[in-house]
Amino acid sequence: MINKNVLVSGGAGYIGSHTILALLDKDYKITVIDDMSTGSEQTKRYLESLGVEFILGNINEIDRVKSIIKEKNIETVLNFAGSIIVGESVENPVKYYENNFSNTLLFLKACLDENIKRFVFSSTASIYGDANNEPVTETSKVAPMNPYAESKLMVEKALADVKIAHPDFNYGILRYFNVAGADHKGRVGQMSKDATHLIKVSTQKALKKRDSLEIFGTDYPTFDGTCIRDYIHISDLAQAHVNLVEYMEKNEKSNLFNCGYGDGFSVKQVISELESIIGESLNAKESPRRAGDPVSIVANNAKIKTELGWKPKHNNLTEIITSALEWEKTL
Ligand code: UDP
Repeated sequence: MINKNVLVSGGAGYIGSHTILALLDKDYKITVIDDMSTGSEQTKRYLESLGVEFILGNINEIDRVKSIIKEKNIETVLNFAGSIIVGESVENPVKYYENNFSNTLLFLKACLDENIKRFVFSSTASIYGDANNEPVTETSKVAPMNPYAESKLMVEKALADVKIAHPDFNYGILRYFNVAGADHKGRVGQMSKDATHLIKVSTQKALKKRDSLEIFGTDYPTFDGTCIRDYIHISDLAQAHVNLVEYMEKNEKSNLFNCGYGDGFSVKQVISELESIIGESLNAKESPRRAGDPVSIVANNAKIKTELGWKPKHNNLTEIITSALEWEKTL
């Protein structure tokens, strides 16, 4: 019988909370550890009402994590806790190396001490850096361009080494492309008020919650001069985690996967899509480049589709932006 007890770090956050909903649909029993530094109280209360247990704490508290794993009889861990803003990582690298690398390593140590079998880690497509406008595969060269990406890649490397030393331990890594949108039933969504991500910020501007919207860099070597990203709906990303956990339960092996749609959109395309949804101009201002931004990152997603059987259901920029906008209206 498969042990369905799961520990989720960062479960009050955006990606963690959507993944928890997808795991609950598959009858997993979930305990969350979250220090609530960026997590949402509203999200936490909602998930608690569904039977998810929240423990206030940081993943670096080794003894605490070990006792949770023992007490809840946990075999599978999903690690979402971390910092995610490229620009901030350039300005404050120590925060990123501490939260995303050091703390994750301590968390991993606690997991290994307690013989965790499966460790799922949130990585990022930004580890690929500039990819010459070519879709990246999991074996493409990695070239992080900022401390955020570097801190994630360092954990990936640590996991690969840990696997060699601990044969019964397995990791599963998802390299996320640009996640956006919200749960279609409006149960959870992206909360952070001081968001920096393009779709979130644009919907805030559309709803007059912000005075300005900037396009960072219009002189990139792309068809319209702005950066290209592969935007993926949060619910498809959440489902990819469930597929990955099931795959690890079945195959007992470690693996890593790109999680993107394989379609690239420029910053200007995203903004004009939202403008046509709301029927008015967002008056976006053309500004200088932002530090640390690669020109273009688009996934080759053949591996996740073939090996995890991942079937995106919301692969549509209009749908992604509309769901982000609908969620933003509720805040
Ligand atoms: N971007 C922008 N204006 C904003 C936020 C983002 O022009 O207010 C651009 C950013 O420079 C990048 C792309 O949108 O080229 C995606 O950035 P985001 O912060 O959403 O995600 P990232 O790819 O950095 O993780």
